[in-house]
Amino acid sequence: MPSPDSAERAQLVERFRRWLRDQRLPVTHPRDVIADLVIGSDSHESVGTIAAQLKARGERIGTATIYRTLDLLVRSGLVRANEFGEGFRRFERVAGKERHEHLVCVRCGRVVEFANERLERMLPIIGDEHGFRHERHRVEIFGTCRDCLQRELGGLRS
Ligand SMILES: [Zn+2]
Ligand SMILES: [Zn+2]
Repeated sequence: MPSPDSAERAQLVERFRRWLRDQRLPVTHPRDVIADLVIGSDSHESVGTIAAQLKARGERIGTATIYRTLDLLVRSGLVRANEFGEGFRRFERVAGKERHEHLVCVRCGRVVEFANERLERMLPIIGDEHGFRHERHRVEIFGTCRDCLQRELGGLRS
């Protein structure tokens, strides 16, 4: 899914600032920078990828601050945390983004997004069939991505 344009990005970061003020939490430079990075990203960032990008930007922000800021972003509802079975969380913007599920490559860790209306309609019905009132769901399909499959097939041929 494409990253937001600069106006939308600035607006979402501003929403986070407003949320912090509403919670009586200080708006700090690290919080601003991390929010801008995660909200402006079109991929699924981990603490590691965020730390690397901050370093590349010349920002000296500690890991503990990154963790805390990500928790705040999730609490604000602007960002969602995903568990892709890697043992750590990956974060992505939810605001202004279409509802989607994920395909996760178990070889290279690539995450692909998909949206399927039929599936989204089906899951609450399945809940219903079990006398279960659906509230929310997440679908993750684990497998091997096209590139990794091709690499494997190439390896077999040579
Ligand atoms: Zn792969
Ligand atoms: Zn996603």
